[in-house]
Amino acid sequence: MEISLAEVFANEGVKKFFEFDEFPKEDRFEFNGEELRILKPLQVSGYIIRYEEKISLQMGIKTSIQRICSRCLTAFEESIDIMANFTFGKDNKDADNDSIPIYGDSIVIDEIVIDEVLSQISMKPLCNTDCNGLCPICGTNKNLGQCDCVIDEVDPRLEILKSLLEKE
Ligand SMILES: [Zn+2]
Ligand SMILES: [Zn+2]
Repeated sequence: MEISLAEVFANEGVKKFFEFDEFPKEDRFEFNGEELRILKPLQVSGYIIRYEEKISLQMGIKTSIQRICSRCLTAFEESIDIMANFTFGKDNKDADNDSIPIYGDSIVIDEIVIDEVLSQISMKPLCNTDCNGLCPICGTNKNLGQCDCVIDEVDPRLEILKSLLEKE
């Protein structure tokens, strides 16, 4: 995903539109111990525009990512549809921390697109907001069926008391 800057360097205040529809070179990512996989091409579209030494980039990013539900551990697809904007500095001598420096006459946006997607995905992925999770005893996925486990929720302090009483 490379955007030539020639037109915006030549024309101040004129939008140059771009559109990409492709899988990134790397389609698997490690994210908080979870392995993510990009399932659909990254649809990235937007424009760049230059005012003086600054180039602004506005874009929309759409894709779909395979996640693992944090409750039932089932793989599901999370749709991504986000907007992002960035500023690039044409003059690298200008020590402006808000803008991304430009080297050469084009910008490659693969990395900022992926970083933006990873910063917007849910931290606690759920296949469904009311996912029932797994049985802590037998591991049955409780979205698919019930098991016969009885969860004995006895307070451990009462257990000690009970065993003391039994000794007497
Ligand atoms: Zn789930
Ligand atoms: Zn069970």
